[in-house]
Amino acid sequence: MSLPPILVWFRQDLRLTDNPALAEASASGHPILPLYILDDEDAGAWKMGGASRWWLHHSLKSLAKDLAQQGGNLLVRSGAAETVLAEVISETGAVGLYWNRRYEPWATDRDARLKTRWKDAGLDVRSFNGALLREPWTVVGKNGSTPKVYTPYWRALNALGEPADPAGQPAPAHYAAITGEHGDIDTILPLPSAPDWAGGLRDTWNPGEAGAHDRLAVFLDSAMGSYKDARNFPATPGVSRLSPHLHHGEISPNRIWHATRTKLASLGAAAAGVEGSAEHFLKELVWREFSHALLHNNPSLPETPLRSEFEAFPWIDDDDGLRAWQRGQTGYPIVDAGMRELWHTGYMHNRVRMIAASFLIKDLMIHWRHGEAWFWDTLVDADLASNAASWQWVAGCGADAAPFFRIFNPVLQGEKFDPNGEYVRRWVPEIARLPDRVLHKPWDAPALVLREAGITLGETYPVPIVDHAMARDRALSAFKSLKSDAAAA
Ligand code: FAD
Repeated sequence: MSLPPILVWFRQDLRLTDNPALAEASASGHPILPLYILDDEDAGAWKMGGASRWWLHHSLKSLAKDLAQQGGNLLVRSGAAETVLAEVISETGAVGLYWNRRYEPWATDRDARLKTRWKDAGLDVRSFNGALLREPWTVVGKNGSTPKVYTPYWRALNALGEPADPAGQPAPAHYAAITGEHGDIDTILPLPSAPDWAGGLRDTWNPGEAGAHDRLAVFLDSAMGSYKDARNFPATPGVSRLSPHLHHGEISPNRIWHATRTKLASLGAAAAGVEGSAEHFLKELVWREFSHALLHNNPSLPETPLRSEFEAFPWIDDDDGLRAWQRGQTGYPIVDAGMRELWHTGYMHNRVRMIAASFLIKDLMIHWRHGEAWFWDTLVDADLASNAASWQWVAGCGADAAPFFRIFNPVLQGEKFDPNGEYVRRWVPEIARLPDRVLHKPWDAPALVLREAGITLGETYPVPIVDHAMARDRALSAFKSLKSDAAAA
């Protein structure tokens, strides 16, 4: 007689290798029923944005194909997980429910309820860590609590020793046959049409586990060695671009960690020259962990400033400014290039994310939550923890944040990190013919130079929507008023 199935509930772990929930289910000897639930209803205000949905569509297709090669059928449903699970368990007679943990507050609350409910109903319910090197509650400093700033967090994480070795693909599992409706990815997660805005995403990315592994291999072979310096230059292929693969769990951070170490070891004597770069890369990976710890310890991180005095910051309501920023029409080329890269590819280079975010928050004095929401909708790597923590970091109201008074000058940042203008010329082609010396500040170009470059400021490219020097002073005095209010209170 065949055994009843165990449900493996895929969430942000869309891979077969190094997937603890899948491996444990496989080891149980029960047939496995792989399930994905599009749980918009549970996510409330943090429903997945458009770019993430595009990614998820392709990632699920890739997972379904990989499972099919092993004889598995991915069941895809949408709705509140509580309802969908009840239906699937009753339809299939499943006796177990395994998943890898998520860390969004809405997901942890829901999962705790589900665990109690189905354990009480007699199911074997288990959850695992499939997304982080170390789960937030395990990384503690000498005083026993989570470090509130990054460097002690990095040290505390390292003090736990090397993260677990990544496991390979579980031994070929026995998959349960699905008798009812499979669920159709095209219907549940339709691709954009009329208009189809996803052409740039298609040209840029290869979602799925194989794409993630390819991306890691390319990075280790061609960019890891120079990461420390090259990571700041957006025109250079100096970063890994693994963030969307990591967010959707197509690759585990443990695999990335150990592959980096292995690559370094394979270089022999040459490793000495690139150790600093490899460590820097691992440190960035741990910023992701630190962001998850911040969210775990501060569930309102996406909505509320960690430094409460920022609640009183005199933000400006400026719909026109916000729209110009979103569309890459601010008149500051490096900001506009970043915002257009984001719209076109669902990604923006980290250096430019910082510049664009600083511009919105400090030059326009628009609340960081508007930027956070736009990134949420447009990034393929939109991640509740990393996005919220990073916006608060730039705004100066977060843990270990850049101080508010450190205001990026978009011209100097452009000149320093895009010195040959390659990045700006790619994304803001209407000013591409400007010479380097004025590319990052077209308003400084003499009339003849503008004419020769085919530019009419205010018509073919905007005049700056705000004067940076004025905006800087305005932001600093707003910040000072905040401090004096806090002192007077
Ligand atoms: P690499 O430089 O190759 O780094 C490797 C990995 O480390 C990344 O894939 C990522 O998982 C992690 N990482 C690197 N930097 C950071 C960081 N500062 N914070 C957290 N993790 C980091 N990252 C997201 O994954 N999702 C987001 O929604 C997100 N929103 C951001 C919003 C703002 C305003 C800013 C300034 C940064 C944001 N980041 C976010 C962090 C960072 O910009 C991206 O993780 C990084 O650009 C991804 O590119 P990469 O994979 O090439 O990174």
